[in-house]
Amino acid sequence: MNHPDTSLLTSGDIFVGGEWRKGRANPYASIYPADQSINAEISTANADDAREAVECADRAFRKADWAGLKPHQRAAVLHRIAGLIEARHEALAQLQRRDNGKPISETRGLVTSAANTFRYFASCLETLEEELTPARGDYLTMSVHEPLGVVAAITPWNSPIASDAQKLAPALAAGNAVVLKPAEVTPLASLALARICEEAGVPRGVVSVLPGKGSVIGDALVRHPLVKKVAFTGGTEVGRGIARLAAEKLMPVSLELGGKSPTIVYADADLDHAVNGVLYGIFSSSGESCIAGSRLFVERRVYGEFMARLVEGARKLRVGDPSRENTQMGPLITAQHRESIEKYVALGLEEGGKLLCGGERPSGDGRDKGFFYLPTIIEGLANDARMCQEEIFGPVLAALPFDDEAALLEQANDSVFGLAAGIWTRDYKRAWHTARALNTGTVWINTYKQFSISTPFGGWKDSGMGREKGRLGLREYMQQKSLYWGLNDAPLPWAN
Ligand code: NAD
Repeated sequence: MNHPDTSLLTSGDIFVGGEWRKGRANPYASIYPADQSINAEISTANADDAREAVECADRAFRKADWAGLKPHQRAAVLHRIAGLIEARHEALAQLQRRDNGKPISETRGLVTSAANTFRYFASCLETLEEELTPARGDYLTMSVHEPLGVVAAITPWNSPIASDAQKLAPALAAGNAVVLKPAEVTPLASLALARICEEAGVPRGVVSVLPGKGSVIGDALVRHPLVKKVAFTGGTEVGRGIARLAAEKLMPVSLELGGKSPTIVYADADLDHAVNGVLYGIFSSSGESCIAGSRLFVERRVYGEFMARLVEGARKLRVGDPSRENTQMGPLITAQHRESIEKYVALGLEEGGKLLCGGERPSGDGRDKGFFYLPTIIEGLANDARMCQEEIFGPVLAALPFDDEAALLEQANDSVFGLAAGIWTRDYKRAWHTARALNTGTVWINTYKQFSISTPFGGWKDSGMGREKGRLGLREYMQQKSLYWGLNDAPLPWAN
């Protein structure tokens, strides 16, 4: 199905304080990156809309129709959201495909993940226990958690429905009100989610969705005094700017930022599995993934054989129409983003790299109309080359041989980023040492890019701070409070 399913959109309106209406900024066309056809005309918010959404959210939060519900009652609404996502699974997957051009097999997975995220946080909420702490006097001591108030959730374009769910579900579970700001180029899934939240019974004003310019709306949200937390996923420099503003307000922020993740192949690895894993790690989602395994380190003894197999595999990947069931790589998000990737490839070659495959746009089969780019592998660069240090966010892999574990670890950890890493080996002792020595938030061993909603996710170093997923992910949207209950009738001794 190539035509956009817009049944989940409400005439391209934005959603402010429970009302569907036009935004005050200029509308723009949402474009399908596979052929540049128009999905829908989208109204966009300006800074006044953002302020209005925050004020409505704050009123809705204080009215306590949401925060005041018992955990099992809020959980029931989250389960309804999950059910509505499941009921519209195919429509949402098609909408997400049109939104950012990911292959349909992948967007179906993202929709399933979004529904599971709501279910997981509903269950978490119902089973979350507060603590009775050991008392040191004649009183009872407790540690409890309260919601924060208005949360601004700011998401990127690469997996919108899943990133939105990862913020909306725990923020709502914790009893907060949320103003969601999707990326400029991918507002469709977020608007559909707003409609689903409304249908599921989330009270009016508790969720707003504001498509439009990040530098305007995002900035207005971050600065607003009634916004009590920002949950951001996006680029490191934007994240750093948000952290600076948050410091002024002493406001908690969670930042899921960029990466330049190393994948390590030891000579004793199952090379068939490693080839598959490395191809999937870098080229799925066309490399537009924060956890893309974009730096490959292969033990020199098997480097030649491994690279030959990897290049053969990369050449066979099916790049094309995202609506086809067997497509592995869709287009890149925009023409501008493809140009930035092309500049990185040119830079890598100038820096002394040798192109093993790709390095160009594919042609034929309708691909000239979209922003396609072939899977690209470059070798011969040192780890300090810009192509090995900067996030490209596209289907470009830099491959480097290594001789021993010490040299490998020094290079793998020589990065400003610390999001994820992968290790392929049959030796569990070596896997253990290497995994513990890598400075990253996630390490995959003999697998890559697998996720479990119950396991925390987040970055070290310039890849971010705070955690999403798991029980830790729910606590990020709460503030802790201590309670002391006096247990005897005697007055405190001081005043006597
Ligand atoms: P981006 O930083 O340009 O934009 C992210 C979001 O921030 C968008 O909604 C954008 O409109 C908004 N924004 C832009 N300027 C802003 C400002 N001044 N104030 C507030 N908000 C602003 O990132 P992108 O290009 O959409 O996404 C790609 C980046 O996201 C990559 O660096 C990638 O690694 C990162 N990412 C990280 C994760 C993770 O979990 N660590 C996941 C996905 C993507």
